[in-house]
Formats: sequence, C-alpha cells, structure tokens
Amino acid sequence: MNLPIAIALPTPFLIGPVNSWLLPGEEPALVDAGPRTDAAWEALIAGLAAQDLTPRDLRHIFITHAHVDHYGNARRLAEAAPDATLYAPDIAHARPMLLDLEEEWERQYTFTRRALLASGLPPHLAELSRSRMADMRSYGDAVPVTRWLQSGEYLTLGDGTVWQVVALPGHSMTQVGLHQTEHNLFIAADHLLPHVSSNALLEPPTPGEQRRPRALPRYVEMLRWTAGLPIQQVFPGHGEPFTDQRPLIMRRLQGIEERAALIHTALLERPRSVLALVEHLFPKLRPEEIFLAISEIVGHLDVLEARQQVAFRGETVREYFVLLQEEEGKTIMATIDESFRQDLVQHPKQSYRVIVRTASEAALVAEHCAHQGMTIHHQYRLLPGLALTATGEALLALAAHPAVTHIEPDQMMSV
Ligand SMILES: [Zn+2]
Repeated sequence: MNLPIAIALPTPFLIGPVNSWLLPGEEPALVDAGPRTDAAWEALIAGLAAQDLTPRDLRHIFITHAHVDHYGNARRLAEAAPDATLYAPDIAHARPMLLDLEEEWERQYTFTRRALLASGLPPHLAELSRSRMADMRSYGDAVPVTRWLQSGEYLTLGDGTVWQVVALPGHSMTQVGLHQTEHNLFIAADHLLPHVSSNALLEPPTPGEQRRPRALPRYVEMLRWTAGLPIQQVFPGHGEPFTDQRPLIMRRLQGIEERAALIHTALLERPRSVLALVEHLFPKLRPEEIFLAISEIVGHLDVLEARQQVAFRGETVREYFVLLQEEEGKTIMATIDESFRQDLVQHPKQSYRVIVRTASEAALVAEHCAHQGMTIHHQYRLLPGLALTATGEALLALAAHPAVTHIEPDQMMSV
C-alpha cells in the first residue's frame, strides 16, 4: 500500500504548520484541510500539484476534529472537489461546531467566560475570551459534511486500503483518528504529537450532558489505550511521522504525573484558585496563553480530583485544596500491608525502618517527618518517597497524612 503523504499547511497559531495527509491511489483522499487562510489554501494546492493532483481529483475528504486549524478550509476544498465525499465525526459537539452554528459558539463562549471567572480571572480579562473566540471563528467556515461518522466505522480510502475510524477523546472531545489495522498505520491527528504535549482543552458539557467532560483524565485513558495498539507508524496532526508510539506516550504520561505532583505540592502549602496555580506554575505567561494555561491546570486538578487527592470549595471563585481525612466524612489512609499494620499496632514503641511512598514530591512529607522526630535516611525522586525509621505509633499516624500513599517495611530492625 501507499503511505500517507504529508502536505504541511501554515497556520497563524502558536502550534505552527498543520499536516494534511494525502492518501494517494485510485480514490485520492485527504485528511484535514487546514485553517481558512489563503496561505494554507495555496500550500494545499501546491502539495496536491506535487503529486499531479488537483482538488477536483479528490474522492474523499476527512476531518479529524472540530478545531479550525484542521477544518477551516474544508468548505473551500469541498467546493473545488465536487466528487469528494466529506466525512466528519458525529461525536460530542462536532456537528454544531462544524456546521458553524451561532448558538454553539454562544454556548462555548458563555461556558468559557464562566469557567475563567470561576478560575479567578478578573471580569475584564474573562471578557477577552469573546474576541479571542471570534478571532478563532474567523479561521473556520461551515463544513458541508456529506457523511457523519461514528467511532468504529470502516472507510476504504486512497488505494483501496481500509481504515477504521477511532474516537480519541481528550485533546478535543470531538477528536477521531484513522487506524489501518493490516499495516498498523495510525493517523493520530492531535492525539499524539511528536514535539509538544497535546493540550486537553477545557470544553463545555457535551450537548445533553450536565457536567463538563473531564478532558485530561479521558486523554490519559486514551493514551494508555493507544499504547497497547500494534502501531508501526504514526502520522500526527503537526510534526513528522514517527515509528514507536510507546516511548512518546510514556513521556507524556510522566509529564502529566509530574505536573499533577507540582500542583498537589503547591496545594499542600495552602488552598489556591486555578489562577493562583497558573501564576505559581507559569510565572512568565503571556496574556494570550491564559486560556491554555487555565485549561492545563484544570485538567491536572481533574486528574487529582478523580484520585480523591484534591477537592474544591467556594461558589464563585473555586479554591482547590488537598483533600484531608476529615473531608466528606471519609478517611483516606495510606495502604499498609495488613500483617505489617498488625505488627505496628502490637508494638507501638518499637522502631521500624520503612519506605514511605508519597503522592507528590517527598520534601514536604520529609519536613513533617523530621518535625515528628523520625530519622530520614533517604529521599527518592523518581518514584517520590522516603526511607525512614520511626516507631509503630508514629507510622500509624503518618498513614493519615494526605500526601502519603503507601508504607512498607524496608529492612525491619529493632533498635
Ligand atoms: Zn486540535
């Protein structure tokens, strides 16, 4: 079979050029169409011409998700390609977004403004999201979709190769990819990017739902799922194709863990609003990046909240704090093997050398332990934790510390 051919299209966005993937063959297909700019259009025409094609030769046009850098020029392309079927996912809010419905943009704006205010952004800055969204909208156009797709459907494209549509919610709830299961090829769009981690953007509830989607936890699930696929080559929405997806996915998962740990540590010091966390983590932020930064922080808070490590309080501005044992009437205790726990209970005055695993950076727990008179031997960084010696009763008390997740004997010794 023929491999997909990249046609890189310029965008006015920070991410840089977007890939339009050409699947050559009897029925040429194009995956994604670029933003609505003349520069992107000219690059697309030139890219097709380099393969002796014009838009009129296209038989299939496929849109991967409802972001303007991927669908903006689809209408112009469809008008120049009268014989092409135009496919798009009928997932989450893709349909109203791709049809460019006024009420959907209004819904997106109202949600975004409310979310920014709840994050602690002052009203005059939250208002700016309207002009930012209007600016985004100007790079898109209503997409004349002729076939709406569900996840799991099969499409025959290009040289007769069969591709499966797979939903990849996270970066956008509307995100889909194409998986070629015979040759193990994967058109990932923005689900996997080689040079930058994909943002899991803050989105309003899917129409008909009450709760906004937890984008980053969903993205983590989908990353894990993708790691298990037999993939030979990945064709991303931005950047070069790459071969083994697993190391990249491991790096992305690790990056998410590290940032979640930083947020957890910051909240151990004191409760903070989302904006205060943004200022703490991204002190040199430019104003135009504020929405991305807030999305980023909210996503990681969602990850921590799903693990019951943080909760929020406050009605207008939400302040997040580390979930202590008193909260919600439940005790979250570190895990200790039952026989070891019995040992600690029966010998409260005996000294034990243990490994203590912590939810985030171990330094704060180390400080607490030192203050309690425990002897710290070592601080682990890769898997955060401590090696220390303490009495049975001190260890039982330490198990209730919100940042301690696990306690196990190191080399037990009586002193
Ligand atoms: Zn995107």
